[in-house]
Amino acid sequence: VSPMDGFRRKSRGKVWLVGAGPGAADLLTLRAHRVLQGATVVAYDELVSADVLKLAPASAEFIAVGRRASGCRHHEARIHSAVVERALLGHEVVRLKGGDPFVFGRGGEEAEELAAAGIPFEVVPGISAALGAAASTGIALTHRDCASAVTLVTAHAHLEHGDLSRRVPAEGTLVFYMGLTRVSETCTALVAAGRELATPAAVVSKATTAEERIVVGTLADLAQKVTAAGLQPPAILLVGDVVLRRVVSASIPPALSPRALG
Ligand code: SAH
Repeated sequence: VSPMDGFRRKSRGKVWLVGAGPGAADLLTLRAHRVLQGATVVAYDELVSADVLKLAPASAEFIAVGRRASGCRHHEARIHSAVVERALLGHEVVRLKGGDPFVFGRGGEEAEELAAAGIPFEVVPGISAALGAAASTGIALTHRDCASAVTLVTAHAHLEHGDLSRRVPAEGTLVFYMGLTRVSETCTALVAAGRELATPAAVVSKATTAEERIVVGTLADLAQKVTAAGLQPPAILLVGDVVLRRVVSASIPPALSPRALG
């Protein structure tokens, strides 16, 4: 695995697997911010916003290591070789991932590989897309009246593993990641798995950013509405009665809103 296997390393760096949050730069944790400020190498994937990257020193080396950058969207489970090399050279490498590193971020695979290579690592959690989208759209993921559980699931699950009813519970809130092109199949599969056609559902695109959009419907009509609205990725699909309980804040003068203050 390591280019320096076979002899003793004197200086050894470290890899920080850091959650960059869902979009808005001020949704980063204080720890992520601090680690980023001390980085000499920043390896980031495509979901990480430019505003977050700006928090690292301009003198740091920036490496794009997203699946898009590597040209291999679905089958690259391995950590980028540049990350391993820089760490072995003694650098503090920040591996920045959208949302949380351990929620569909392949952070688990990368951590396994770093452990196997004997490279120290630390995980800094981030606000995952589901949590960011819930907060910014006013949809509580759990609610005492209608949802006592929430399931985070990849929209690929039913295509790769068959029957969706074996993958997701019959009740509670479901949040599907990576599924904008599969909203129709996912809704159909949920109905086949026993959820009512009238189940409320929503797609939130670019949650927590200035371009956030939400489309609300039911399992029967959501796919059509999403297509008509022309929503852009990244987007997540929220399913369950909590969508109907969405609470929209009374409007506040723009000058007082947190975004204006940021
Ligand atoms: N580790 C990330 C998820 C990576 S998988 C996290 O914890 O959020 C990428 C998927 O995350 C996208 O396909 C989309 O479904 C979702 N996603 C990421 N950022 C998003 C955002 N700002 N708004 C809506 N969905 C987002």
